[in-house]
Amino acid sequence: MATYITDDCINCGACEPECPNEAISEGDEIYVIDPDLCTECVGFYDHEACQAVCPVECCLPDPKHPEAEGDLAERAKRLHPDDAELQKRLTANDFPSRFRK
Ligand code: SF4
Ligand code: SF4
Repeated sequence: MATYITDDCINCGACEPECPNEAISEGDEIYVIDPDLCTECVGFYDHEACQAVCPVECCLPDPKHPEAEGDLAERAKRLHPDDAELQKRLTANDFPSRFRK
């Protein structure tokens, strides 16, 4: 499932530069995550990078967007066609993932 930011967000901006997919932006009231860009950090980290830096831990799995690891890995592949190292990791099925901790 894509990660989403809850109303607890205090607009500190710490999460935005941490996202490997540039999925986070400043919204009207709080920061928001584009579910079409979020891979739950699959392919890059074994945890959600946004949640790791969030001072109020409000970057949570969105129950409205359940997604399997394979779909998230496919998205990472599609979003980063020129990242050779990532493509190699994904093709070899040897990549960091919160599902594999
Ligand atoms: S979980 Fe990862 S990919 Fe998704 S918004 Fe957070 S940092 Fe970006
Ligand atoms: S790190 Fe947390 S509190 Fe700060 S902008 Fe991101 S979601 Fe909001």
